[in-house]
Formats: sequence, structure tokens, C-alpha cells
Amino acid sequence: MLHAPLGIDLTEEQRQICELARSFAESELRPLAKQRDEEEDRFDRAVVDKLGELGFLGMLVPEEYDGLGLDMLTYLYSLVEVAWGDPSVAVSMSVHNSLPTQILLRHGTDEQKERWLKPMARGELLGAFSLSEAGAGSDAAALTSQATRDGDGWILNGSKTWVTNGASADFVLLFARTDTPEERHGSRGIGAFFVPTDAAGYRPSKKERKMGLRGSETVEVALEGLHLGPEHLVGGPDRGFRYALAALEGGRLGIAAQAVGIAKAALEHALDYAEERSQFGSQIRAFQGTQFKLADMAARYEASLAMLERAGRAYSSGDPRSRRLSSAAKLVASEAAVWISRQAVQVFGGYGYSREYPVERLFRDSKVTEIYEGTSEIHRWIIAAQLYKEKDGAL
Ligand SMILES: Cc1cc2nc3c(=O)[nH]c(=O)nc-3n(C[C@H](O)[C@H](O)[C@H](O)COP(=O)(O)OP(=O)(O)OC[C@H]3O[C@@H](n4cnc5c(N)ncnc54)[C@H](O)[C@@H]3O)c2cc1C
Repeated sequence: MLHAPLGIDLTEEQRQICELARSFAESELRPLAKQRDEEEDRFDRAVVDKLGELGFLGMLVPEEYDGLGLDMLTYLYSLVEVAWGDPSVAVSMSVHNSLPTQILLRHGTDEQKERWLKPMARGELLGAFSLSEAGAGSDAAALTSQATRDGDGWILNGSKTWVTNGASADFVLLFARTDTPEERHGSRGIGAFFVPTDAAGYRPSKKERKMGLRGSETVEVALEGLHLGPEHLVGGPDRGFRYALAALEGGRLGIAAQAVGIAKAALEHALDYAEERSQFGSQIRAFQGTQFKLADMAARYEASLAMLERAGRAYSSGDPRSRRLSSAAKLVASEAAVWISRQAVQVFGGYGYSREYPVERLFRDSKVTEIYEGTSEIHRWIIAAQLYKEKDGAL
């Protein structure tokens, strides 16, 4: 087993939390990761609840709201460990911590924080995030689900896609248009709504059958005359898209951490197997062809870990380059995870192609890190745009 990705200047408390994540991943996550993948139709809510009991669902929420009040790096390193254990569980932890809780923390009223943020931080309520729609993926502001005024409340109609935990979470932070069909305001006509998943009119429908991350639930949701009181709107009715973009900056660091965890697991499996397997009378680790693969895998793993740390620090310190660095960390780490897990399959030879061995699943799981919370192409676009802003002194 490789060293845990601990920064050298972590405090004792931070180190202990990362170690707790590591031991939880070893004892509770990894042993059942294969089963969760095979039982695609069953979401393991119990294991997510256990994460909540340990405080891992309130890591970035201040103690006054019942969270652990930890810094970004401790959260990211813990997430690396959880993803090492099971990437499907890591995505629940990432979405919950980075998106709905952060938006409530930054923009919720005192009453919303008391009623929803506190139990979410204690891990009693699981949150999801729903921005995407069939016609609005990378161009998320093109969403068309409509929120219409109804007295002082709202009625929502439309349909959302790709909602991670959209059926099993307790609440979804969901984005819908608050401008009228007659008067559209683009990204400035979108509100953020806190929607209980047991509300009448919230109907999870098709469950996606995926290439990987099969232990994670991904559903379509129909919104059919969903009535919400005014207290369910978070922040300004036309500010939702801004909130989403800001939260996604932290969210993509979570996905970068997930990718680093996948890469680490794949590298470790490859190192072990190269010692176990012999051909031509010697361990395959003795062949230079295998050594070069392992060395390249390790180099890319370390590069993505370093990038994660740099971007995490920039995010925490409010560095103006943070947006570019978050995108760069997600881009570098996700592409490294796909590459490293593919090399791991190659090191395993035919056995790497078999579901008996974990590298096949890691390879499938890795691919989505290049797609969700912004595709690699979109992150390249963001990085280039931010570079010119910096160059022009606009940051
Ligand atoms: C397993 C899974 C879980 C998800 N969970 C959630 C969730 O919980 N909540 C949520 O809201 N969403 C979720 N998503 C949705 C995810 O964020 C979108 O899939 C992603 O943003 C890409 O959108 P799209 O699939 O519509 O692809 P598209 O936007 O249609 O892109 C198709 C291709 O075109 C490229 N492309 C698009 N625009 C450009 C451009 N301007 N320049 C260059 N290339 C471009 C893309 O990079 C991609 O290669 C999830 C997706 C998956 C697969």
C-alpha cells in the first residue's frame, strides 16, 4: 500500500481525520465495492449514512451549524481515501459536501440553515444537486424546467436528468427558471430550490444504466406540478445559476480528489500484480516494459496529487487564480485516472479484462471523472478564458 496522500504540514487533527477516512475505506468500503458495482440497481444508503455518522457529510460546514468546520485540503485528502475504497460512494460524499451544503451555507437564511443545513451536516439528511437537463448539459443555463409564482410560493414543472442520488437523497438542490417564457433572461433567470424528494410532484423516473460508477444512483426526475412554499427558494430568485457555478468550483476539486483516489487504487493493484505474476520464468515486474508503465503511472499520480493540493490551497486562500486551478486539477487528475487505470488493466493482461479483478471496474469508474461537473473540453475552455483574464489584468 502506498503512503496516504498526506501533506507535510497537516495538523494532528487533520492527519487523524484522513487516517479515519483511510481505515473506513479499508474496512467498510473496499470489501463491498465489487458487490455494489454488480448490484447496480441497489443504492447502498447504509454505507453513506455511516459516513455521515463519522462526520464526513459535514466536513466543510462550520461547527456552529453542526459540521466539522474543516479546511478544503483535509476534505479533499479524505475524499481521496474514500474514492480509493469505492469511487461510487465517493461521489455521494463529494456532491453532498460541495454542492447543496455549500449553497445553503452561503446563501440560505438562518431558518433554512437551522432546518436543513444542520441535519445535513450531521449526516442525517442526504443532499443531491440537480442542474442538468436533457437539452442542458455543458450549456447548463439552457435549462427549461419552469418555476411559476403561486401566491408567495412556487409551482415547478419540467424534467431533470442525471441526478446523482435523485431518488434516495432526502433533498435536492434543484435549479429551475424563474423568468417567464415570454421574457427570458438566460443565466440570470434561474432560481435554486430546496426540494424534498418525498414532495408530491417530484417523481424520479428512469434510472441510468451506466458504464461505471454503478454503485452510485443516477436518475431522471419529472417535476409535475410540484408545489413549494417560499421558504424553499434559496437566495435571490434570479441568482441560482451564479450560486451553482460558484459551488461547482469546489465541486470539481471533489471530483479531482475522486480521480486521484481511483488512480492510487489502480497503481497499487498494478504494483502488487506485477510481483505476483510470473512469465518467462520471472516476475513481470522484472521486465523493463512493465517497470516503465509503473513509473509513468506513478509519475502521473503524483502530478495529479500535487495539482490537487495546489488548487485546494488556492481555493482556501481565495487566490484569484483559483477558478483556473480548480479546472486544471480536475482536468489533470481525471485524465490521469483514466490513463492510469487503463495501464493497470494492461499490467494485469487478460485478468485485467476480467470482472474477477478490480482494475476492470476502476477503468470503467474512472471515465466519468472526465465528463461530469464539466467535461475535459469545458475545463480547457475555462482555463484558457481565465488565462486571458489574468493576462489582461481582469482578475
Ligand atoms: C454518472 C453521472 C452523474 C451525474 N450527476 C449529475 C448530478 O448529480 N447533477 C447534475 O446536475 N448533473 C449531473 N451529471 C451531468 C453532467 O454534469 C453532464 O453529463 C455534463 O455536464 C456534460 O453534459 P452532457 O452530458 O449533456 O454533454 P454535452 O454538453 O452534450 O457534451 C457532449 C460533448 O460535446 C462537448 N462540448 C460541449 N460543448 C462544448 C464546447 N463549447 N466546446 C467544446 N466541446 C464542447 C463536450 O465536451 C462533450 O464531449 C451527471 C452525469 C453523469 C454521467
